[in-house]
Amino acid sequence: MDCIFCKIVEGILPSRKVYEDEEIVAFHDIEPLAPVHLLVIPKRHIPSLEAATAEDAELLGRLMLAAQRVAREAGLADKGYRVATNTGPDAGQLVFHLHLHVLGGDKLGNPVSRIQHD
Ligand code: 5GP
Ligand code: ZN
Repeated sequence: MDCIFCKIVEGILPSRKVYEDEEIVAFHDIEPLAPVHLLVIPKRHIPSLEAATAEDAELLGRLMLAAQRVAREAGLADKGYRVATNTGPDAGQLVFHLHLHVLGGDKLGNPVSRIQHD
């Protein structure tokens, strides 16, 4: 399958991994938007949150807890962090393999505070 994140899961593409278990991998984003910018992904290819179903409920919970874990390990627990998943074109999703962004390490601009028009 022609998916960058599946290739990272398979080890065909390199990544700076910070966490891995049977179902999940977390690694540094290649173009960080904050001092800490990690991506948490399921090993199984799910294109986006929009493609998830009730059968994925446990996996989705585990992804959130993996995000909490890597955020803590990156030292973000006290000052805080953001977990976000871009879903579809209006959100600017570029990689169609479900991923949680974990952002922190500085004050973050708030993308959900108001709608931005061009
Ligand atoms: P989104 O699909 O939510 O817009 O974002 C995809 C994210 O994946 C971007 O932040 C981008 O920098 C990151 N990314 C794209 N290709 C690679 C890659 O090959 N390796 C890593 N580590 N991150 C990537
Ligand atoms: Zn994939």
